[in-house]
Amino acid sequence: MAQAGDAPCSAKRFNPDEVDYLFMKPEKIIEVCPVCGSADLYYEAGGYTGKIYHCKNCDYMGALIVEADEEMAKAIKDDYEHKKHAA
Ligand SMILES: [Zn+2]
Repeated sequence: MAQAGDAPCSAKRFNPDEVDYLFMKPEKIIEVCPVCGSADLYYEAGGYTGKIYHCKNCDYMGALIVEADEEMAKAIKDDYEHKKHAA
């Protein structure tokens, strides 16, 4: 009794180690300034408003920061540089 279409061995073509590697993307998430993409941020004492971030690079101050990987941080930086040159 051969069961046509049933190919139990086909799944074994994938090496489990390779699959783990594909799913575990080693993305490094960094907190960057939403204006200039710099990671050079520090907390200001925020008082009742909570945390306020201060960017050393562009003097941005606010509660919002961007959690980005290196590629995204670079995109924000590039955009900021372009705006700076256009101004
Ligand atoms: Zn900044």
